[in-house]
Amino acid sequence: MTERVHNFNAGPAALPFSVLSTVHQQLLNYDDHGLSLMEMSHRSSEFQAVIDGAQAALTELYNIPDTHEVMFLQGGASLQFAMIPMNLGAGGDYLNTGTWSTRAVAEAKTIGSAQEIWSDAHNGFKSIPQDHEWTLSDTARYLHYTSNNTIYGTQYHHVPHAGVPLVTDMSSDFLSRPLNISDFALIYAGAQKNIGPSGVTVLIIKKSISRSFIGEERVPKILRYPTQAEKGSMYNTPNTFGIWVIKLVAEHVLSMGGLTAVDAQNQAKAKQLYSVIDEHPLCDGHAAKNSRSLMNVTFRMQTPEQEARFLERCGELNMIGLKGHRSVGGLRASIYNAVPTASVDRLCDALSSFSG
Ligand SMILES: *Cc1c(COP(=O)(O)O)cnc(C)c1O
Repeated sequence: MTERVHNFNAGPAALPFSVLSTVHQQLLNYDDHGLSLMEMSHRSSEFQAVIDGAQAALTELYNIPDTHEVMFLQGGASLQFAMIPMNLGAGGDYLNTGTWSTRAVAEAKTIGSAQEIWSDAHNGFKSIPQDHEWTLSDTARYLHYTSNNTIYGTQYHHVPHAGVPLVTDMSSDFLSRPLNISDFALIYAGAQKNIGPSGVTVLIIKKSISRSFIGEERVPKILRYPTQAEKGSMYNTPNTFGIWVIKLVAEHVLSMGGLTAVDAQNQAKAKQLYSVIDEHPLCDGHAAKNSRSLMNVTFRMQTPEQEARFLERCGELNMIGLKGHRSVGGLRASIYNAVPTASVDRLCDALSSFSG
């Protein structure tokens, strides 16, 4: 086999090698049933055990209380931008910290009113607001924020306190650190950044929303949370393969010692990389220091030519995915859970020895 690359892709992104290896072993003959999981009915007891297992592993990792449940939907995080106002009702307040928040509030406005109560657009989306920097509107139904801004490389290091239901896009930092689930009405995450393949969105949702429809009257049945919740996320055929991979990833995180252990590892990886960037005479971090993401590290060099030469050097060293998103430019290293410390070491070495 060709050597595996050091994968810094933003999404779809790196998966744990042990998970890929299990998928590889089981691909043609799932659990000795004589067929692959992809060829099985989603109504089979085998698949039921997979989806139950995925829910159980996530419940254990996050210590999810009885008031909440786990769902697996389709349509990406992007469909949630629309389902949220459809189900919670128009009138959400939004903190805008980047491209995905911008899309979320724009989609909410197609359903009804939605307020952007804070935005960092004029400042190049370099920072995360503290709670005293915004004021909730009088009529706010919920507060929406993006916990990690994949493109700009910023991340909340606190949970905003709003006094209304909290709705959070955690697509790029789900399973990266412990949380108190009771703080949230709804957490959603497209799987392809930190927890699985594309094509599944994980939700941790308060049952008061998932079990009784309180949204807009004209919302189609398939876009109502209770429709899916009542059918165990199988109102229609789910992404069976994707849910299986999520189960394996969640079990892998449990075997590593859970979210506290993963968080410590993520902190160490990010600290190492940011300190190399801070000490490097050619490099400048994009994010404000107190808003830096542990998942997506964004920085630039003094000239685009230096960046191009550095990317070329990275290619020679078997490292991929380091070009910044087109809306920010520069460089971006996505160092999700599954990116090994050895990959970060290699990037840090390459950067330290790069002089232009
Ligand atoms: C990637 C991403 C999305 C979009 O996800 P899709 O699955 O493509 O809809 C939304 N929010 C955040 C924070 C993301 O990183």
